[in-house]
Amino acid sequence: MTNWLKDAAERAIRYNENVHEQPVFPRQDALDALNAFEEDFPDNATSAEEVVRMLDELGSPATVATTGGRYFGFVQGALLPAAMASNFLMNVWDQNGGLAVLTPIGSKLEAIAERWLLDALDLPRESSVGFVTGATMANFTGLAAARHFLLERAGWNVEKQGLFGAPEIKVVVGDEVHASMQQALMMVGFGYERVIRVPTDEQGRMRADALPALDEMTLVAIQAGNVNTGAFDPAQEICEVANKAGAWVHVDGAFGLWARAVPERKHLTAGYELADSWAMDGHKWLNVSYDNGLLICKHDYALRAAMSVSAPYLLQNEERQPFNYTPEASRRARGIEIWAALKSLGRQGLAEMVEHDCQMATRFADGLREAGFTVLNDVVINQILVTFGDAETTLRTIKAIQEDGTMWAGQTVWQGHTAMRISVSSWNTSAEDIDRCIEAIKRVTK
Ligand SMILES: *Cc1c(COP(=O)(O)O)cnc(C)c1O
Repeated sequence: MTNWLKDAAERAIRYNENVHEQPVFPRQDALDALNAFEEDFPDNATSAEEVVRMLDELGSPATVATTGGRYFGFVQGALLPAAMASNFLMNVWDQNGGLAVLTPIGSKLEAIAERWLLDALDLPRESSVGFVTGATMANFTGLAAARHFLLERAGWNVEKQGLFGAPEIKVVVGDEVHASMQQALMMVGFGYERVIRVPTDEQGRMRADALPALDEMTLVAIQAGNVNTGAFDPAQEICEVANKAGAWVHVDGAFGLWARAVPERKHLTAGYELADSWAMDGHKWLNVSYDNGLLICKHDYALRAAMSVSAPYLLQNEERQPFNYTPEASRRARGIEIWAALKSLGRQGLAEMVEHDCQMATRFADGLREAGFTVLNDVVINQILVTFGDAETTLRTIKAIQEDGTMWAGQTVWQGHTAMRISVSSWNTSAEDIDRCIEAIKRVTK
């Protein structure tokens, strides 16, 4: 075997075996050691083996251990074994995921992953899936498809004519709209202040009784899984009204929509199947690598109209052309890794992985309450908000927990309360991990 590849693989294996016991956030000495990278651009070559040695020796101890079982910041999945390994092979293959003539295997596996995703999530089977970089780009792509659909119906081709002079689209979002939707609204030219914000309840759910009048020039953006509480908007009520009015419903379901793959949790997502587009992440709860997001669109033609271009040299055969569904042309053949994750899990494994994290979150919340701390939200899936007293005490405690190194969780402000945000999204978080974290929190708060 080629030595440098074998060496890299061995280093990767060692990292993966030890990551569970390394401090979840790197210690200061490991961060200081990164200064060894500070050098002027070298005149001379360095061997690949030496480059990888440097990266491993300096870089590995300075990584944030998100692939271990005790990282609870933001919403970060780990890496399933099949995702990690297929990603390695995929990188060696160096496939350009844009066109079928550049990657028959990439095109094939994207098409299969598309079908499996719609099946696993029980979304309209006629939908198309764009394999994008993350939920931000999925939100953008979904809004671009909506923009085409609504304006075309009004007799305006936005791709050809642009937005200046176009009929107006009314945009409705919940007051708890995620920052990435703001970015998507910026990028599609709708403007993030030119929107109607619907009030939300104590869990952050959009209040269906407070919806404005909807019509066929309206885009409604709802959420499956609030980034703080994990709460779900009342999709059934909202979608029924929107469908009757001819409005487009876009769902930001970055992590929460995976609950649809779990029989015990599917009721939380009732009505979401009535939407028109759905944004999801793979790199969160599916536990695949960065950067993996999914945009699912019920109206294949609208998505293609918004995303595809042609040129005589961009040879399109009769296979699936991945670049017709995404903003990018050249890119990683992401569908390969999504396929590998789904193939390795199967329907049952996918449901068990998501359900396991929900149960671990419940265990965590129970332990925190027993220790006398206040959990602010209803723990319906994998998200927990906990306070340790007033804002200052809570922030001090979060910092102490982070420095202890057993786990990592970040901070937020929820309806005026400063809180620690815990998101259990890793396939390999065990009950023992949770108990160890609760002990660590008790230790630093003594
Ligand atoms: C994480 C998240 C996003 C943004 O996803 P990226 O993959 O970081 O682009 C959007 N919406 C929600 C609800 C999220 O949790």
